[in-house]
Amino acid sequence: KQDHGREKDKADRATSELVLDQRTRMILLQMINRGLLSEVHGAISTGKEANVYGAVLFPTDESAPVQRAIKIYKTAILVFKDRERYITGEHRFKAGADKGNNRKMVKLWAEKEFRNLRRLHAAGIACPEPLVLKLHVLVMEFLGDRRGYAFPRLRDARLTGEDVEDQWRNLYIQLLGIMRRLYQVCSLVHADLSEYNILYNDKQLYIIDVSQSVEHDHPRALEFLRMDIKNISGYFRREGVNILAERAVFNFITAREGPVQEPALSQAVEHLYEIRTDVPETDEAAAAQEVDNEVFRNQYIPQSLQEVYDIEKDIDRPVNELVYKNMLADQVVAKEHVESADEGSEDGSSPSDDSEDESRFEKGT
Ligand code: ADP
Ligand code: MG
Repeated sequence: KQDHGREKDKADRATSELVLDQRTRMILLQMINRGLLSEVHGAISTGKEANVYGAVLFPTDESAPVQRAIKIYKTAILVFKDRERYITGEHRFKAGADKGNNRKMVKLWAEKEFRNLRRLHAAGIACPEPLVLKLHVLVMEFLGDRRGYAFPRLRDARLTGEDVEDQWRNLYIQLLGIMRRLYQVCSLVHADLSEYNILYNDKQLYIIDVSQSVEHDHPRALEFLRMDIKNISGYFRREGVNILAERAVFNFITAREGPVQEPALSQAVEHLYEIRTDVPETDEAAAAQEVDNEVFRNQYIPQSLQEVYDIEKDIDRPVNELVYKNMLADQVVAKEHVESADEGSEDGSSPSDDSEDESRFEKGT
């Protein structure tokens, strides 16, 4: 009993600055007792859905202290509601998310980040190595320097030197390679990729924040991929990089054939630059490319062979019947057919449009 009191004291001191609920404190205490952590420090980041804290482990063998990062998902809020769309439809989460149970939902979410990080790490993609997961608390490798300063987000990174332009271009190419590898080796689409979820240090990009990343087989995976491509393309364009067409990037990432390792990945991207026919040399050409990007962004992408088959069935049927009817009779018959086909083709309203509830309440951090 007394021991318990003392241990609790220790945890209280180790976590004293932080406003954490009792359950979270108990989880951290347990980790401290098991020698996984020694101290939990201040917040590196406070977000809507999670806070990230710095922590230190003093190894028992007198070796140098090791930095850690702890991502603690917030359990007391409803902001997770829209996350359902990422979980539903993915085979790893067949049961779907139980909206009624926040704690369970948050645990599921932390688990998803942990597993996705493990996949990235196993595939050799630079990211924080996931170390320990307990309910909504995830301990991972700290990405930062020895003094405990986290690497900046790409958004905040200051690149310097005479070859700054080349550096930006190389980072763009590096990122395309990472995205292809993520897709082909990890079978994942990040689904929230932007300059905010990439850390930068010494010419290297680190991918973070993968709790919402989805499998290939998620019904909206390719839509999310297109969104990721749009975000990063916009960012690198603003940084002055001569970027590839979004459609070409999409094909590069999803093509079955091709390399998944550096340096072959970068070489493959360079090859795309060489063979591209869409170099915008004039303003009009640039505008035309932007139109093509826009068309591409809005294009319907079939997610499975079955869907391709369904679309072709839908397209073929009326056309074939039209041809047949034209052979038999005159244009009027055909026209009637088109009209009646139009009436009959009511596409069911889209199953879930997450916009029903804008009013989420948040608990202050
Ligand atoms: P959120 O869901 O709140 O966006 P992120 O996973 O993006 O959470 O992390 C938020 C911030 O915390 C990041 O922008 C980064 O600055 C910092 N961070 C996250 N993980 C690490 C890590 N392993 N090492 C260092 N800093 C990190
Ligand atoms: Mg983030």
